[in-house]
Amino acid sequence: MPEKYDVVIIGSGPAGYVAAIKAAQLGLKVACVEQWLDDSDNMQLGGTCLNVGCIPSKALLDSSHKFADVRDNLAVHGITVKKADIDIPAMLARKDQIVSQLTGGITGLFKHNGVTPISGVGKVLVGAKVEVTDNKGNVQVLDASNVIIAAGSVPVSIAPAPIDDEHIIDSTGALMLTEVPVRLGVIGAGVIGLELGSVWRRLGSEVVMLEALDEFLPMMDVQIAKEAGKIFKKQGLDIRLGARVIGTEVKKGKVEVTYTSAGGEHTELFDKLIVAVGRRPRSEDLFSSDSGITLDERGFIYVNDNCETEAPHVYAVGDIVRGLMLAHKASEEGVMVVERIAGKQAQMNYDCVPSVIYTHPEIAAVGQTEQELKADGIECKIGVFPFAASGRALAANDSDGIVKMIADAETDRILGCHIVGPSAADLVQQVVIAMEFGSSAEDLALTVFGHPTLSEAVHEAALAVDGQAIHIANRKKR
Ligand code: FAD
Ligand code: NAD
Repeated sequence: MPEKYDVVIIGSGPAGYVAAIKAAQLGLKVACVEQWLDDSDNMQLGGTCLNVGCIPSKALLDSSHKFADVRDNLAVHGITVKKADIDIPAMLARKDQIVSQLTGGITGLFKHNGVTPISGVGKVLVGAKVEVTDNKGNVQVLDASNVIIAAGSVPVSIAPAPIDDEHIIDSTGALMLTEVPVRLGVIGAGVIGLELGSVWRRLGSEVVMLEALDEFLPMMDVQIAKEAGKIFKKQGLDIRLGARVIGTEVKKGKVEVTYTSAGGEHTELFDKLIVAVGRRPRSEDLFSSDSGITLDERGFIYVNDNCETEAPHVYAVGDIVRGLMLAHKASEEGVMVVERIAGKQAQMNYDCVPSVIYTHPEIAAVGQTEQELKADGIECKIGVFPFAASGRALAANDSDGIVKMIADAETDRILGCHIVGPSAADLVQQVVIAMEFGSSAEDLALTVFGHPTLSEAVHEAALAVDGQAIHIANRKKR
């Protein structure tokens, strides 16, 4: 008799591996199927996030930020550096070491918690069974009481700029460039474009970003997007909006890009071209047609609020289902599902999921934007505090940006917080916690914040909601 698992998970990205560990902690018998192999054909855990996403991109963002800081920002402190140099292979090796440390860490956690890793490509069959085909073609069928699909996403490709992994690259290629391109083109001024464009800009590339939409960062609060746009312009990111790429041609080792914009047709020559136009669910060949699982019109696995698919005992979580493509959203969905399988009443609060763009300064947000609230006819009060008035930000010579706090006009409940500024990712988390507890702007305003900290900007923005900020001239009187 083949052994029966309580849970079989397909995919070991943040959705899958966290669900696997949590399931094991809850006493469930769990297997995690992963197709990713390293250069030696060993199973590689961690998915997009650890291997080619969040972690390696942040490693390069931190290295390049330190380099740019030493090169450009020390004189103001009275520090002179003769000439800052960057050793790209050493920078990449550091990134790779961090990736293997973390992916190896998951292997260790699986062992410690008793999760069974199974190498191969998984496919869900009818009746919560999972067929696994390994890289030698061996097939086994796993019997499970529950299946969780956590197969993630892949980059979107566009016909006018086919990836050749040499001159025209996707986000994975952009994490592996062995020298700094003199001219770097980026198609798409979204999250990946801005993060990886920033890395190579800091290291010396001339970066031109071609964005199809006329609006910059349309998912962000308009005031924050405008503020961020000004800061990026100062940093030398050349962001061209309303630019539609219609063709590319590799000529003598360079990429010629043709695009149209309001001004007509244009041609640009780049050493490398990054295509960063979004990601799509990896839902092909993942389940048999009689499994009962369905896709929505965009190819995401259809699930309800509890991540249940239309097939009994089959769940789907993370990038492969609707909602933000974020690692923490993915892992929290995984936790919710296994807790429900274990009989707990878990639910996911989608209203309190923060999102961050790790440029410098960072852009971070939680809740609704002013524009979304207006569109919904919800009256709100807004408090804005600039980092230029923060003692800590000035002391750090890092005072670009603002905190914008939005509260319900009637109840004062915090509805959103939007930040562009130093450590925005960590600052917004304070508001996420406040929102999770149903806090009002006044609750934050009455909270004691340490001095001098960047957090004081969050405090002041909460005070500003009712025109009571201390360190700026308030527009509103009580
Ligand atoms: P994935 O991480 O994509 O994992 C899916 C796994 O399933 C993969 O390992 C895949 O090999 C495996 N798989 C797929 N099909 C099968 C199959 N049939 N059988 C077996 N295995 C299968 N998010 C953030 O929150 N913060 C960030 O800073 C951030 N930075 C990013 C930077 C970059 C460059 C990129 C590309 C993404 C970034 N993201 C970030 C997004 C984040 O990586 C994803 O939201 C997250 O990885 C989704 O997790 P997941 O587990 O759903 O899918
Ligand atoms: P994105 O949706 O953030 O940005 C893609 C951009 O490309 C958009 O602005 C879009 O208008 C533009 N675009 C689309 N087609 C185009 C075309 N043909 N020509 C020019 N521009 C075009 O997607 P992304 O940056 O590829 O990132 C993918 C996903 O990965 C995102 O959903 C994001 O959530 C996730 N991610 C998150 C982080 C983070 O949390 N810090 C970092 C990287 C990636």
